[in-house]
Amino acid sequence: MGRIYLDYAATTPTHAEVLKAMRPFLRDAFGNPSSIHSAGQEARVAVEEARDRVASMIGASSEEIVFTSGGTEADNFALKGMAYANEGKRNHIITSSVEHHAVLETCKFLERLGFAVTFLPVDGCGMIDPDDVRKAITEKTLLISVMHANNEVGTIEPVAEIGKLARESGICFHTDAVQTAGHIPVKVDDLGVDILAMSAHKLGGPKGVGALYVRKGTRVVSFMHGGEQEKGRRASTENVPGIVGFGKAAEIAQRDSDREAKRLTTLRDRLAQGLAQHVERVRLNGHPTRRLPNNVNVSVDDVEGELLLLNLNARGICVSTGSACSSSSSEPSHVLLALGLSHERARGSVRFSLGRETHERDIDRVLAIMPEVVTKLREMPPSMKGTAAEAVAAGNPLRNAILRYETENHTRMLCRFSHLRCLTCPGSGVGKGCVLAKWQLARRESGTPDG
Ligand code: PLP
Repeated sequence: MGRIYLDYAATTPTHAEVLKAMRPFLRDAFGNPSSIHSAGQEARVAVEEARDRVASMIGASSEEIVFTSGGTEADNFALKGMAYANEGKRNHIITSSVEHHAVLETCKFLERLGFAVTFLPVDGCGMIDPDDVRKAITEKTLLISVMHANNEVGTIEPVAEIGKLARESGICFHTDAVQTAGHIPVKVDDLGVDILAMSAHKLGGPKGVGALYVRKGTRVVSFMHGGEQEKGRRASTENVPGIVGFGKAAEIAQRDSDREAKRLTTLRDRLAQGLAQHVERVRLNGHPTRRLPNNVNVSVDDVEGELLLLNLNARGICVSTGSACSSSSSEPSHVLLALGLSHERARGSVRFSLGRETHERDIDRVLAIMPEVVTKLREMPPSMKGTAAEAVAAGNPLRNAILRYETENHTRMLCRFSHLRCLTCPGSGVGKGCVLAKWQLARRESGTPDG
């Protein structure tokens, strides 16, 4: 039985037509678009065609598109570029508490430079109230930044309403459309946005390329200095194959996204309803209807999301946890906490995100496996139920089952469980060798019996 990939919100497979379009630019058509000779001009034409395609997908004009290295850079560019453009004039930014780290961390950085940031709360479904945005506006507000749809719970924000009030107040409006561009209708005039971030690898394009839409007349200061590429807005030789791939992915999305969104909505609802029917005590996170066509995020009571992920992975199903656990922290996701979920419920969450290669049979297989896996995890002795880190902290041997996952995929475990290392060997870097080995070594040294 093949692998079932349900983590399209993290990244998507590169579309076959995209690969085909990119291939010539990886070898024969390798010119630098800034070169005047024919090899350079060939690349220039391809970059400009791709720009037209990306612009067309969002109802913009080509000169309003600046290519970047991805969604993170586009968000950084939007926020820093607007902040720098307003230095000494306005110093206040309004955003939400559920933004992607690309926005949140940039806002925190700007706070350290002296800008003031209002992080607005959301309701239990993850929705921002436009009225809260209105109330937060001051004469110092330079930018409102609210994401189009949330990457974890899939809630679609009232961006058009916020855009309208931003316009009425004469304030620039940025939206992070990384999860929506190419998936649901994104037209810059309908949304009333001035700046919009996109990323190619979320819509069947390659990784390492994205774009920022900047409405004509909006001043965004460049934060990449060097050559005059992208009309002086973003220095560095263009990633020609990546940009060509992005253009192709945008063209395909424009052609297929309505049909695909309908298909995915049906599969999404089949999965959400099936989980509610077949697994006891499962709750949907995010908005019940105003959500991305491909997102199902659920909390499963009395189950730790990370263990659920590992057990599903062992059965060939790739999902992600809502409780994004970075290498240094086992804190639950800021998004789920902002929705008002308890730490326990946030830790018990998993996100299924569907895509082009997801079919009904995949959903049915997940629905067949989930009850079994959840029952198994619920039947684990209480000492085994916390996070892996908690189990180690409490001196509990981890089950063989968990150890096996650790050895099966070292890379994931280095990321997922590197906090084990912090508990057993404080201050040590991961370096060579696997976490499991270090953990076992530390346990032997501390005299903890092997499990
Ligand atoms: N914004 C959102 C909402 C995202 O989901 C992501 C990626 O997960 C990003 C920004 C960052 O995009 P990239 O991976 O292209 O840097």
